[in-house]
Amino acid sequence: MIVMKFGGTSVESAAAIERVSAIVRARLGQRPVVVVSAMGRTTNRLLEMARLAASGRRDEALAECEALRHFHRAQGLPPADPREREDLGQYLDAHFRELAELLRGLAVLGELTPRSMDAVASYGERLSAAVLAAALRGAGIPAEAVDSRRLIVTDRRFTQAAPLYELTYPRLAREIPPLAGRVVPVLGGFIAATEDGVTTTLGRGGSDFTAAIVGAGIGAREIQIWTDVDGMLTADPNLVEGARRVKIISFDEAAELAYFGAKVLHPATVLPARERNIPVRILNSRRPEIPGTLIVEQAPPCRNPVKSIACKRGITVVDVHSTRMLMAHGFLHRIFEIFDDCQTPVDLLATSEVSVSLTIDNTARLGEICARLRQFAEVGVEQDQAIVCLVGDNIRYTPGVAARTFGALGGINVRMISQGASLRNLSFVVAGEDAARAVRALHQEFFRDPDPEVFE
Ligand code: ADP
Ligand code: ASP
Ligand code: MG
Repeated sequence: MIVMKFGGTSVESAAAIERVSAIVRARLGQRPVVVVSAMGRTTNRLLEMARLAASGRRDEALAECEALRHFHRAQGLPPADPREREDLGQYLDAHFRELAELLRGLAVLGELTPRSMDAVASYGERLSAAVLAAALRGAGIPAEAVDSRRLIVTDRRFTQAAPLYELTYPRLAREIPPLAGRVVPVLGGFIAATEDGVTTTLGRGGSDFTAAIVGAGIGAREIQIWTDVDGMLTADPNLVEGARRVKIISFDEAAELAYFGAKVLHPATVLPARERNIPVRILNSRRPEIPGTLIVEQAPPCRNPVKSIACKRGITVVDVHSTRMLMAHGFLHRIFEIFDDCQTPVDLLATSEVSVSLTIDNTARLGEICARLRQFAEVGVEQDQAIVCLVGDNIRYTPGVAARTFGALGGINVRMISQGASLRNLSFVVAGEDAARAVRALHQEFFRDPDPEVFE
């Protein structure tokens, strides 16, 4: 068995869905299990209509719901088969009626909880799984939509739920392999449920994670992430024009890149895959003939120290100065206790004698964090910063990477530096507006002579 995950752009239109059918058909011999994201920008649109409804703009929310129904009918109904069209059309209409009901409820309540956000967002993947299964059947491939919420069990942290593996794996192992022997199972990514059946989601971009959980649960031979680029590239192609494909990369490197902003892979994807030693491959659904990026436990030797450069924007730097002269014993403990209590992960950290700087991505509880820090320290906050992160297993063995990095940056002001924690990563913070320029300069510096064994 292999797991094939198709992202939103891979199913954004009737033409894209047709390409997916051809890709799946060509791999039927490997017993594919398909995981699919919501079509195109559906998740954003669903969350937006939930916000509209809860803020009292009910009619706008319902109009957007109707527009999304039209989009699904226009792009999602299989062209050839009249029976499939009829059945799926009814399925879509029934679900959009239900969604409209939910939006009316939110408008009455005037409140949007994480739990109801998940309930609304879940429609995207519930519908796309039905759409893709029907499209496959319409193309003559036996397929069956499976509700992932019956199989993937999570905790109750709505919008960011974590899987409970001891409950999830046995369900997957029991249900999926027999089904995959008869048909192509099509599961919606991203969505899951608590043990008592309340809908949750795994966090934005979480369909990659679903693919890895499913792959690990059924002992797949490979987990394929089909997307809209040729693989993991040496930088975000939106920032660097000549970014190259990385042919092969280690789990550790891929995980760091994903964590520090390479959106092509959800950061949690690597965990279940590496635990069961299942290779992950990133592929382009528009150009399926390209071999993509293979992610494995041990990457082959590479002449270059850096494999790829990631960038995470919208970062906030918090500076904490001890109001006593020296950092008293227990100072760091008190600081981290606050971030921990507020469930706010810290990404980078730098310390001096009397101060600590750290970066956070999630500012939902920043006000509370600052208020508590101010009880024993002076606090400064700077928003709109960016982390730039060079990743490569070789960084640790190559002298001079830091000198080349900061040399290449020219006049760009560096706000904070961190190296050494993982040895394969050199990260620093710049102002958000300088991030693109920094990434381009570094790309030029480190990929002048790329090793042809590793880069395309
Ligand atoms: P999907 O909808 O298939 O999950 P995503 O939009 O989540 O796709 O991820 C693919 C996008 O990630 C690419 O279109 C690209 O813009 C972005 N990206 C950022 N960094 C990288 C990188 N290093 N390599 C490849 N793509 C990257
Ligand atoms: N549809 C979800 C999102 O947009 C999950 C995913 O695409 O991976 O975040
Ligand atoms: Mg994605």
